[in-house]
Amino acid sequence: MKPRECKAEVAAVRAVTPEIMEVDLRVLEPAEFTFDAGQWISVPFGPKIVRAWSMVSPPTRRGAFTLSIDVAPGGIGSQWARGLKPGDPVQFKGPTGGFVFTRADPRRAVFVAEEIGIVPIRSILSHLYETGYGRSTALIYWARNPGWLVYDADFRSLARRYPGLQVHGIVGDFTLHLSRLPRDGAPMVAFLGSTIGNLYVEERRTFLGAIADNLPSGGSLLLGFDLVKPVDRLIAAYDDSKGVTAEFTRNMLRVLNRELHADFLPETFDHIAFWDPVQERMDLRLRANDDQVVHIPGAGLSLEIHDGEEIRVEVCTKFRVPSITGELEDAGFSVRQFWTDDRGDVGLILAKKP
Ligand SMILES: Cc1cc2nc3c(=O)[nH]c(=O)nc-3n(C[C@H](O)[C@H](O)[C@H](O)COP(=O)(O)OP(=O)(O)OC[C@H]3O[C@@H](n4cnc5c(N)ncnc54)[C@H](O)[C@@H]3O)c2cc1C
Repeated sequence: MKPRECKAEVAAVRAVTPEIMEVDLRVLEPAEFTFDAGQWISVPFGPKIVRAWSMVSPPTRRGAFTLSIDVAPGGIGSQWARGLKPGDPVQFKGPTGGFVFTRADPRRAVFVAEEIGIVPIRSILSHLYETGYGRSTALIYWARNPGWLVYDADFRSLARRYPGLQVHGIVGDFTLHLSRLPRDGAPMVAFLGSTIGNLYVEERRTFLGAIADNLPSGGSLLLGFDLVKPVDRLIAAYDDSKGVTAEFTRNMLRVLNRELHADFLPETFDHIAFWDPVQERMDLRLRANDDQVVHIPGAGLSLEIHDGEEIRVEVCTKFRVPSITGELEDAGFSVRQFWTDDRGDVGLILAKKP
């Protein structure tokens, strides 16, 4: 079905956890609304402002489906979702998206998800297995704590009924709990999105070494990273003229205020982003533009911060192929392949544990 302008009404809302809610929608127009498991809808909130949510339910109920929404404090879409009640009208466009997997596909599927990213996969796996899919698939599912491993009980129940489905739910921190990763066969660890660049060099050494220690011989690492590029492009990305990154950085203080009852005044900090040519990394800081005393009751801290003092928010290291290859080899890997994009902006390396 092509995406269309649709009208629905809320049939029910439920809290799954304090941060995640489900919304049942009954589609009024078009009369014959169908979707493929894994697809999503988008809801408009103004000119050029839309939010997308995937269906969490399998496409077996005619003209009805369920969304599962992480209701982040402060977000436009989340605020809207929190206010929904049965009978409310909802306009949306959909269904959209090609993240689908059908029984006609001959490959053995391995699904990988993090926290709320599980939503489309739940629709796909429930649909496949509850409609007689006999082949095997695996799900590797990570969350920061058990409360974010939503639908874990459903997946375990599905796996008990359909032994072809292997479910690995993992709660942990990738810097501490690598030993919890499944080790069957010749596993591959995929570490993408250039998160490696947020680790300090000593942390990278420990982390890459720990991956190598936890992989059996023949296992591999697929590592994504950002490549060194002209400084003006990097500065523009980390200190944009509209101030979006600056607000993003200051939001860290708002989060401390909200979660740990701190009393930071975010507007009294300037966002600083500079290129460190020695470490080849962007260094992001908040610099106080006034003397202040800040209390963080949730952490039992009081801090005296002087005018001009800085709080480092993060580092984002950019790599060159020889340097990252050297780090991987020092950790015990042998680099097999390197890919980049047309502009040479990002890199992907496949490294094997001999
Ligand atoms: C294809 C697709 C499918 C998706 N499926 C799902 C799904 O099934 N379930 C799901 O939960 N999500 C899903 N998402 C994500 C979803 O679309 C929203 O991005 C998400 O719900 C957050 O939107 P929001 O409007 O609540 O937050 P936003 O308004 O986008 O804000 C995001 C966060 O930034 C903070 N923030 C916003 N503005 C500022 C600012 N100026 N300064 C500081 N902080 C700020 C907010 O507090 C919030 O925590 C999907 C996204 C895509 C693209």
